[in-house]
Amino acid sequence: MYDLIIIGGGPGGYLAAERLNSKEAGQTEKKVLLVEKQYLGGTCLNVGCIPTKCLLNSAKLYLHAKEAGQYGVHAESAGFNLEEMMAWKSKTVETLCAGVASQMRRNKVDVIKGTAVLEVDGSARRVKITDGDQAGTVHEARAVLVAAGSVPAMPPIPGAKNNPKVLDSTAMLSVKEVPKKLCVIGGGVIGIEFASLFSTLGSEVTVVEMLDEIIPPMDKDHAALMRRALKAVSFHLGSKVNRIENGTVYFTSKDKGTEESAEADIILMAAGRKPELNGWGAKEAGIDIGPRGVNVDERLRTNISGVWAVGDVNGRSMLAHSAYRMAEVAINDIRAFLDGTAGSDHMRYSAIPWAVYSLPEAAGAGLTEQEAVSSGISIKKSSVPMTVSGRFIAENGIRSPGNVKVIVNADTEAIIGIHILGPCASEMIWGASALIENEMRVRDVKEMIFPHPSVSEAIREAVWNL
Ligand code: FAD
Repeated sequence: MYDLIIIGGGPGGYLAAERLNSKEAGQTEKKVLLVEKQYLGGTCLNVGCIPTKCLLNSAKLYLHAKEAGQYGVHAESAGFNLEEMMAWKSKTVETLCAGVASQMRRNKVDVIKGTAVLEVDGSARRVKITDGDQAGTVHEARAVLVAAGSVPAMPPIPGAKNNPKVLDSTAMLSVKEVPKKLCVIGGGVIGIEFASLFSTLGSEVTVVEMLDEIIPPMDKDHAALMRRALKAVSFHLGSKVNRIENGTVYFTSKDKGTEESAEADIILMAAGRKPELNGWGAKEAGIDIGPRGVNVDERLRTNISGVWAVGDVNGRSMLAHSAYRMAEVAINDIRAFLDGTAGSDHMRYSAIPWAVYSLPEAAGAGLTEQEAVSSGISIKKSSVPMTVSGRFIAENGIRSPGNVKVIVNADTEAIIGIHILGPCASEMIWGASALIENEMRVRDVKEMIFPHPSVSEAIREAVWNL
């Protein structure tokens, strides 16, 4: 009998496995089994966060080399080799996945490669392995944590299915050549990262987005700045794709009303991801599913006692770092459940940072101006260009894109949103999150000292303008 069986070895699953037996005072060792059907590390390490960031970093180095002349460094012959970029990506993925496997060994977690199916029988919780070396084995558990992740959403666009020119993000990570023309369907985070990557490498990129603006969690002002910054990408917003014929995407924009088309060597379907609700016995076990995914409470408990669900599978916040925190909250509750004590940790979603690792980067935490206004909050806002920072000018000049926008609740003076577009955005945003999470006010931030020279000083300047 296992204390805990985990279904899925991505960030939600492997972190939960590590945390249950982490060395905290007075804990007894628990027996843990993790079942993963494809690859330890999940989407994030294998075909998500890490490989995309490897390729985007190679593209950034190439771009910086090409632009180095203005800083007195001459690398005019800079070039890139896609095969070598891909090899670097694969080596990095291998290193990190091996690290996860060794963490499992260090924490005495049993790992089975195979598909796990949850079985609920009265108060018994069992997991059946349906394929792989241990096909047919059944393992009992006192608690089960589902971390089955998500899969790409494939909208039923005529001509998309079985079209060799239409790729999802996973296939896009192993293309052999830079496409001359790339059409990206979907202007969300994944679509924009690929648009930025391939336009930097020389592709002619078209993005077709159904909504009126790219990257939904992004403040509208910053989204417009981002589009302007991605000079080589052509955007069609408010545009619905009607059909695909071979390599041509036909779409109609709300504004023009007439059908337009974009020809491409590769069409990237980046229309979002949906929770993986198949293959692990959700329906048969009676798991309650809502419009976002598996329904969970603030401790990540499902409707079935003894079963928790974390990460993309519950659709609450489909980001790797959200999956990490959800895993910790669930593990704290599972530990209390196993030890017969009361759990107290719970999940908070209001200040989760997000980042887009395009060139330029963007990141945000808390509410956008539009979200705050539409929820009836009376706001004050401040928006400053990053050129208020000496370091930004020293390293980028005065014409590079960069901006910080801060949203404050006018009644309480609490910081409720921070949005950053420009270099280091993804590295600075955790601090912005901390200000929001701790309900800090304008005067608290004014009294804080930021390092000089640093791009982060733009946040302080934005707050000083309030
Ligand atoms: P996953 O990582 O999807 O892991 C779930 C695992 O469960 C998979 O390995 C799957 O094989 C396994 N599984 C499913 N069903 C079963 C079963 N029945 N039995 C056994 N195993 C099963 N997020 C960020 O925060 N930052 C980024 O920069 C970022 N970039 C991304 C780029 C791309 C191209 C993509 C696709 C995603 C990106 N994400 C990013 C999202 C991030 O990858 C996910 O939010 C994260 O991986 C979710 O973790 P998870 O553990 O919930 O699920």
